[in-house]
Amino acid sequence: MPKILISGAGIAGPALASALSRRGHGPGPGHGHGHGHGHGHDHDVTVVEVAPNLRESGFAVDFRGPTHERVLERLGVLDELRALQTGGSAMITVDAQDREIFRLPAEFTGGDLEVLRRDLSAVLYRRSAPHTDYRFGTSITALSESPEGVRVELSSGERLTADLVVGADGVRSAVRRLRFGPHERFVKNLGYCIAGWSFPTDLDLGPDARHYGVPGRTAALSGGNGTATALAVFTAPEEIPYDDPRGLIRRTYADLGWHVPEMLAGLSEASDIYFDAISRVSARSWTTGRVALLGDAAWGVTLGGMGVGTGIVGAYVLAGELASSGGDVATALAAYEQRMRPYAGRWQRGAHPGRFLAPKTAYGLWARNTMLSNALVRRSMLGGTRKLADEPALPAYN
Ligand SMILES: Cc1cc2nc3c(=O)[nH]c(=O)nc-3n(C[C@H](O)[C@H](O)[C@H](O)COP(=O)(O)OP(=O)(O)OC[C@H]3O[C@@H](n4cnc5c(N)ncnc54)[C@H](O)[C@@H]3O)c2cc1C
Repeated sequence: MPKILISGAGIAGPALASALSRRGHGPGPGHGHGHGHGHGHDHDVTVVEVAPNLRESGFAVDFRGPTHERVLERLGVLDELRALQTGGSAMITVDAQDREIFRLPAEFTGGDLEVLRRDLSAVLYRRSAPHTDYRFGTSITALSESPEGVRVELSSGERLTADLVVGADGVRSAVRRLRFGPHERFVKNLGYCIAGWSFPTDLDLGPDARHYGVPGRTAALSGGNGTATALAVFTAPEEIPYDDPRGLIRRTYADLGWHVPEMLAGLSEASDIYFDAISRVSARSWTTGRVALLGDAAWGVTLGGMGVGTGIVGAYVLAGELASSGGDVATALAAYEQRMRPYAGRWQRGAHPGRFLAPKTAYGLWARNTMLSNALVRRSMLGGTRKLADEPALPAYN
């Protein structure tokens, strides 16, 4: 039974585990006529995740267009996600007095199906957990290829040999570092930081996110049921203090009004905070030997808007190609890379979420606000992202 080791229980990792378990343990919804490819083809899947449990921070994430929908359906999670959808929320840009400047409607920011990241992560985890060995608080510390497979050492001290190792461990992937090279070679810092956290509040907040911005710094708040979700996007300092993001945020936002003081007070109470430099990953190759990169580890743009959808499509394609190749890892990885290159590359190149969310100059801020106040501009941008997300040629992988 082929042994697959996945690093990372974010979105792409559990999506791959779900896609693999769907094949190994009976057809998912709407499938019954295999052509011998995946059916009965079982995998032994282990997922290691460095965090002690599923990570809960983050905002709403979205899916767009028929390809995302089809893949979610095939993973067997579409109905559950529909039941959990947020219903979408608008992005409202306000001034210091909380007066609206412009509003991006829910379908613009939330696509066709919007869910909280933690709900998506939990659904994919639950879908795959019965057939997957999840190990939290564990990471890969060494890996090397041998004729028998990939020899792996885990932080727990355990050693194992896998037929395939998949790095679905995010923008700063450990698998990529161990097998492909140092982060600096693949990760381009786009000059911004992003942070998200939740805290209990008495503020009267709705699901629509209110964004308050000054040049180079944006603060946003949304919420409901006594909980606020805060977002901060700001120009990155020269040296990013990864060990103290809270201190950095406090220093950066100390002089701002609006609801920023409440956000900073809430920062101390937040148990988990999502913090990162907004970066773009570009790797010339996503596969080598019996090791593959998937999701943000391969093609991520932090907060690129399409990271979740592309991660899920990638997981589906990788599982599909593994099944189609009948366990021939080299053939499967080559096909996976060939299919995903053009798809992931489409939106990855131009994406610059920092510039969009927190323009650096007063002129940039004004220009963005003026442009997005125009309904025609908004409509054409929405049509553009739907088209990018669609891939009619995606195989069905029966
Ligand atoms: C906490 C969090 C919140 C996020 N919030 C948003 C959001 O609000 N909006 C948005 O658009 N995108 C968000 N993202 C990014 C989004 O999830 C990804 O763009 C997309 O889903 C692709 O998923 P991924 O699984 O490739 O990467 P990720 O979702 O980043 O998952 C990677 C996983 O790998 C784990 N990991 C990291 N290093 C190691 C290691 N050495 N060993 C084992 N595991 C490791 C991480 O803890 C994480 O669970 C968030 C990511 C995280 C981690």
